[in-house]
Amino acid sequence: MSKTTSREIQLASRPKGVPTADNFTLAQVELKPLKEEEVLVRNLYMSVDPYMRGRMNEGKSYATPFQLGQPLEGGAIGEVVESLSGQFKPGDIVLSNFGWRELFVASAKDLQPVSREIQPLSTWLGALGMTGMTAWAGLNLVGVKAGDIVFISGAAGAVGSIAGQIAKLRGCRVIGSVGSVEKVMFLRDECRFDIAFDYHIAPVLEQLSLEAPDGIDVYFDNVGGEALEAALSVLRVHGRIIACGGISGYNEEKLRPGPSNLFNITSKRLTMKGFIVTDWLGYRAEFEKEVGGYFRAGELKSRETVVEGLDKAVNAFLGLFEGKNIGKMIVKLA
Ligand code: NDP
Repeated sequence: MSKTTSREIQLASRPKGVPTADNFTLAQVELKPLKEEEVLVRNLYMSVDPYMRGRMNEGKSYATPFQLGQPLEGGAIGEVVESLSGQFKPGDIVLSNFGWRELFVASAKDLQPVSREIQPLSTWLGALGMTGMTAWAGLNLVGVKAGDIVFISGAAGAVGSIAGQIAKLRGCRVIGSVGSVEKVMFLRDECRFDIAFDYHIAPVLEQLSLEAPDGIDVYFDNVGGEALEAALSVLRVHGRIIACGGISGYNEEKLRPGPSNLFNITSKRLTMKGFIVTDWLGYRAEFEKEVGGYFRAGELKSRETVVEGLDKAVNAFLGLFEGKNIGKMIVKLA
């Protein structure tokens, strides 16, 4: 292998509150020559995800913190360019955690082969990847079944839009809250949600109470804060909450007090479960059978917001906190 250079996004400083472009550097690096069982990969697509914000802090979040002066990490789909491993040959498509860079050298054991038949290949980062699996695992954990009334916050995003569609396919009535009229239309027209509303127009509690006068059975929480408090008020007796994420608080420098109405958990005998998708990797085959089946049958819309180029990756990440994405936010690298 001749000398190969790549570009990567490194963490320059730890964000305080809302991250800015100054927290990141675009660096040119020289890759080490391939050793036995190693593979050179050119990334085609990379994922930006809200959880990455937690890894930019000093302390442990979902996973270990990103290191200053080192490349960020995250899901990526790439094509094998060169291989010293019998497991991969040039042209193979692989899923890795080496996002935020154009090219990389990795051990074959850190790469997962994926099929070219699924198009676009970025679907392996969204509907059939980490965020799709999060939606599916969350619904399973609270036993979502036909007839349930399910409320989802952050409903037009990568996780929310897939969770809502799966719930619809299982025979639920689905309500979503989102941050724009365009997203309301997307949920109603493309994702077949029964109800969608914009949380900027009126308080979530007001709109949710109006749309679900007899209450809800399940709350799929992507946002926390006001949406969680509203759901606690509107959930029926024995209702279930799946605590998937709390993006409304990720950039808070000082932690906010929790919901003032948490006692609803006691009075209404609610169940609230948290989870991390990586605990579910062993269920990949079951996930692909159900959700892959819907996708191949054309029953699941996998909307993406795609930005092009590594130099736009930081903006794409920052855009997650400004509601710039409909569906999965993807960065196309090649
Ligand atoms: P999304 O694609 O939903 O992107 C983020 C969206 O969040 C934005 O588009 C925006 O939509 C909304 N948002 C941003 N800031 C706020 C705010 N202050 N208040 C309300 N909404 C806000 O991201 P994902 O689908 O990838 O992730 C959704 C949630 O699921 C996140 O909390 C994430 O951390 C969590 N997650 C959890 C996993 C787990 O294993 N438990 C795995 C993957 C994700 P809008 O315009 O509607 O405001």
